[in-house]
Order: sequence, then structure tokens, then C-alpha cells
Amino acid sequence: MKDNIYTIPLIDAFHSNHECPFCFIYNNMENEALEFMLGSAYMADNIREKTNKLGFCSNHYKLLYEHGNRLGLALMMHTHLLELKKTLDPLLEANSPRESVSKLSIFKKKETENNISKFISENKSNCYICDKIDRDMNRYLDTLFLVWKKDPKFIELVKSCNGFCLSHFAALLDMAPRKLSGNTLDEFYNIIIPLTKENIDRIEEELSWFIDKYDYRNKDAPWKNSKDALPRSIQKIASMDVTNYNDSNN
Ligand SMILES: [Zn+2]
Ligand SMILES: [Zn+2]
Repeated sequence: MKDNIYTIPLIDAFHSNHECPFCFIYNNMENEALEFMLGSAYMADNIREKTNKLGFCSNHYKLLYEHGNRLGLALMMHTHLLELKKTLDPLLEANSPRESVSKLSIFKKKETENNISKFISENKSNCYICDKIDRDMNRYLDTLFLVWKKDPKFIELVKSCNGFCLSHFAALLDMAPRKLSGNTLDEFYNIIIPLTKENIDRIEEELSWFIDKYDYRNKDAPWKNSKDALPRSIQKIASMDVTNYNDSNN
């Protein structure tokens, strides 16, 4: 196997000391995507064509709004809105909700979804940034298995990392039988399952000490590794980076 463009960032992520190397990559890709979108990409016709069609998910609208380039976001929002209206307007003009109940509801009485709400809910799950990150994330997950088979030093590196968040752990478990076989597959499970258990136990202890530090009797005791145990627990369990949020309430 030849190294691909994903190999070095993947190895760097395993050196990062993060709660999940794939979340580390996700956070970097997300920051790059936000910079890219509002830096210049919103002016490029080929990208606008896609954002007009897909728009963004709620989380990425929030992050794009917080980025601060309000004109860039307004331009993308406006042409996306015009694109939405192309489908939505005829639906709104042609149908009363009662008439537009889809045929599906004849068979499944409980589902009274009509064409308008169907279009709205489908559209809500689209996101240009999520699509792009998901595609690249699958390449990174693929690359883990390629490097795993090729480089014993990489296996040692994986053993020494802080484990994975729950959803990336689940993704690895699901992908492994398609990527590895026989003893190599057994070895993979025998390493990553105890690694995950050990690191969930560690974060539970760190969070527990974070809570104990609120007891006045522990006021002068050392924090150990627990000062940021709450955001790291959220990253571990929910794959979510909350470290950019306002910290004034702690
Ligand atoms: Zn993760
Ligand atoms: Zn998104």
C-alpha cells in the first residue's frame, strides 16, 4: 500500500492526545470548511450551485453565523432560499394540506405526511458541510485499516492513544469485518475493545473527581487531570467539541 493524503493527518491525530483521533480530524475539517466557505468559496459558482441545492444543517448555520462574515452568509442564504422557493411555492400554491396527503397514508394510517411536510423534512437533513466532512471521514476510517495492516508501529501508536468517542468506535467495529479478516480482525477487536473500555473508565473517574472538587473539603486538593473533564466527557460520549462555548458559568 502506498501512503495516501490521509495517512499523515491520521497519524498526527493519533499523536494529538485528544479523546478521539477521528473527532480531532472532524474538528479540524469543520474549522477548515467554515473558513473555506466564508473565505472565498461562497463566490465560486460550482460551490454555490451545491449550497443553493443543499443549504446547511442547523449546527452549521449557527457556526457560519458565529464566524462573522454576515454578507457572505446572507448571499449563500439568499440564493438557497430562491432555490427552495422553486419547489416550495408550487406545493404551497397547488395543494391544501388535506389534498396533498401522500398515497403512503392510505396504507399506513398513522403517517399523515403530506407533500409539503415531506419536502420540508427532507430538506432539513441536507448540509453541504456535513456531506463534505462525511466523505472525507470515510476515507480517514479506510486509511486506518490500510495502515493497520501495513505498519506494526501504527498498532503500538493506537494502543497508546486515549481511545475513541462512542460513535467513531461504533464505526470502526462496523467497518472492521469488511477491511480485515482472520487473525488480523481478531487482533483488531482484541486491541480496540479493551482500549475503549479502559478509556471510558478513565474519563468516568476524571469526571467523578471534577464533581468531588466542588466539595469545599477538596477545595485545596489538586485537580489532577480533571479540570477539563466535563468537555472531554462530552467529546467522548457525544462526539461534540464544546470548548469554544462560553466558559463563564463554571
Ligand atoms: Zn470521535
Ligand atoms: Zn452540517
